[in-house]
Amino acid sequence: MVYPDTFEGFAVFDPSPETWSSVKKYEFTPKPFEEEDIDIKIETCSICGSDAHSARNGWGKPNAQYPMVVGHEIVGKVVRVGPKVTGFKVGDRVGVGAQSQACLECKICKSNNEIYCPKLVHTFGSIYHNKDGSTTFSHGGYSNYCRIHQYFVFHIPEIFTNEEAAPFLCAGVTTFSPLIRNIPTNLPEGVKPKVGIVGIGGLGMMGIQFSKALGAETYVFSRSSKKKEDAFKLGADHFIATGEQENWIEDISYELDLILCTANSNENFDLNTYLKALKIGGKWVSVGLPESPFTVSPRSFMANACFMGASHLGSHVEMIQMFKLAAEKGIKPWVETIPMSEAGVKEGLEKCHYNKCRYRVALTDADKAFD
Ligand code: NDP
Repeated sequence: MVYPDTFEGFAVFDPSPETWSSVKKYEFTPKPFEEEDIDIKIETCSICGSDAHSARNGWGKPNAQYPMVVGHEIVGKVVRVGPKVTGFKVGDRVGVGAQSQACLECKICKSNNEIYCPKLVHTFGSIYHNKDGSTTFSHGGYSNYCRIHQYFVFHIPEIFTNEEAAPFLCAGVTTFSPLIRNIPTNLPEGVKPKVGIVGIGGLGMMGIQFSKALGAETYVFSRSSKKKEDAFKLGADHFIATGEQENWIEDISYELDLILCTANSNENFDLNTYLKALKIGGKWVSVGLPESPFTVSPRSFMANACFMGASHLGSHVEMIQMFKLAAEKGIKPWVETIPMSEAGVKEGLEKCHYNKCRYRVALTDADKAFD
């Protein structure tokens, strides 16, 4: 198969408030092809909240570089494999998430925690340090092709369509990883763990399903009751509309073992109150990455000796475990599709940022978007 030396994507050129979603086609040179790399012809890429944050430079990264092609829930077909690639061949349907490189040699990588490797490279908006000494800026999945090290490429179970598979690659594994690492396993026989999920968006919808599949009694916190019916369809046992129920915390104080927070903003966000829902020694894990810091009083931790932490994506091993569990239990994301184009990317990014999609937008037909 013949394909180009340079790749093409829909890039954000200017992250300012008026232009962040107005992408334009952009040609870029991928990193040099190395012996464990795989080139993938992209078919579908779904839109994560992090794409919108990055397109807006919402986290205020001083060295953020534009043009930037975002997108890191990628599904496509293998078109080229390096000489040291094992387990993948041309034609395989595969997926790529938000991480595309790590050293794979340090003690962090060797303990299956490569998501915390100091040398990690994100699929877009990061810098590859290539073996030939050069550096390359990474561009993401709103593109025709991507080039990724085999460790960060995954086979897709046949039961999932492209658009169903894509959100697993970031939203899915980002919720699966902290759940399996933090749901308590030492409860007395017959006692179910109780898990809260804050926010029903792309991550939240996956978190609810995984929490349930992992055997937890699942509490869903949403700001209004608009998504209540959906929360129960996704598997919630309890639903709390924090913006509508005054004193909502009273019924669930000291109840939960774990709360996973997927909120992407801090507007009217009262962390001190949420923490009261935790049992003694319970855990709050943030995966949502709002653009402004949390405010929390040290006294809130004293009240129930709770812990607060965060989690980043999920490891190679967890990605494989997640797809296996999802295929066995029939877990699927709820996805709206939009064909990939300048207008389609703009529509999808804005739907995500303004909380208007139910619950993930997948950009499809990438092959038709590029010559
Ligand atoms: P979505 O926009 O799809 O969903 C975010 C949800 O957060 C909303 O639907 C809303 O749910 C809830 N929310 C928003 N603002 C508030 C608020 N002020 N208080 C309470 N809840 C709120 O985004 P994604 O699910 O794609 O991403 C969520 C976040 O996770 C983003 O910040 C993203 O960058 C981050 N992320 C982190 C990763 C990691 O490795 N840690 C990986 C991937 C993403 P509702 O309407 O139900 O209240």
